Amino acid sequence: MGATLIVLGAGSILPRAGHGPAGYALAADADGPVTLLDCGPGTVRALGDAGIELARVRRVVFSHFHLDHCLDLYALAFARRNPAFGAPPRLELHGPAGLRALFDEAPATFGEWGRDPNATLHEVALDADGCGGFDATDDGTRGAPLRFRCVRNGHSTARVTLSWRVEFAGGAALLYTGDTNADARVAVLGRGADLFLAECSHPDEAAPPKHLTPSSAARLARDAGARRLVLTHFYPDIEPGAARERASDVFDGVIEVARDGRVFEIESGTDRASRRG
Ligand SMILES: [Zn+2]
Ligand SMILES: [Zn+2]
Repeated sequence: MGATLIVLGAGSILPRAGHGPAGYALAADADGPVTLLDCGPGTVRALGDAGIELARVRRVVFSHFHLDHCLDLYALAFARRNPAFGAPPRLELHGPAGLRALFDEAPATFGEWGRDPNATLHEVALDADGCGGFDATDDGTRGAPLRFRCVRNGHSTARVTLSWRVEFAGGAALLYTGDTNADARVAVLGRGADLFLAECSHPDEAAPPKHLTPSSAARLARDAGARRLVLTHFYPDIEPGAARERASDVFDGVIEVARDGRVFEIESGTDRASRRG
């Protein structure tokens, strides 16, 4: 008992075949409600490719507001207001400080079509340690609530940037780094994650101060004691197969690479053990 992760965008803002900007869909049931983790440009289009009906999207959780992670908030609003779509269900939006401004300032440029009247905004409040989160009970996930927990990471010092942990019925847990540097708080948040979805923007040799590489992503997953590592958010200067190889020098568990349209099952260790039995 867990959930499904569908990759909508495994790339960055720079053009790359098969790798759109950041967007991920989470669903606990094949036809049930969908939570989007980030909503970069191309996410709405990618929903079509993934066979996810717009009406299933009930929540968007943002890591931060660099454009490659958030710009399709406006496309989503525009699509949901289209008369051909009918009556849209409520949409819950969760993200760091800046979400309200992003939402409220849209009409100045786009008119009212750029603002979703059926959306509810939640700017995440963080405690002194930079931790926050919320519990969601509305979409059931086979009877148990989804728990969302986040921590501020060091991707940006100017703006709040978050990594997210999502827990599902049965105990399966996903860690999504969003964009981050090699911040130990991310490993703490991801402790024991069944799937550790880590940005892997550039090769080790590039030594990016504000992003992860194969080795630094693998170190976070290892320090978290994660079961499985999925690398994503590939800029054009990194080759996913080589990244996987490099990460395997550090992380002993299963390592896979994301690509647009790829689907990953998030299962708790207990699930897998009982199936083997
Ligand atoms: Zn970023
Ligand atoms: Zn990014």
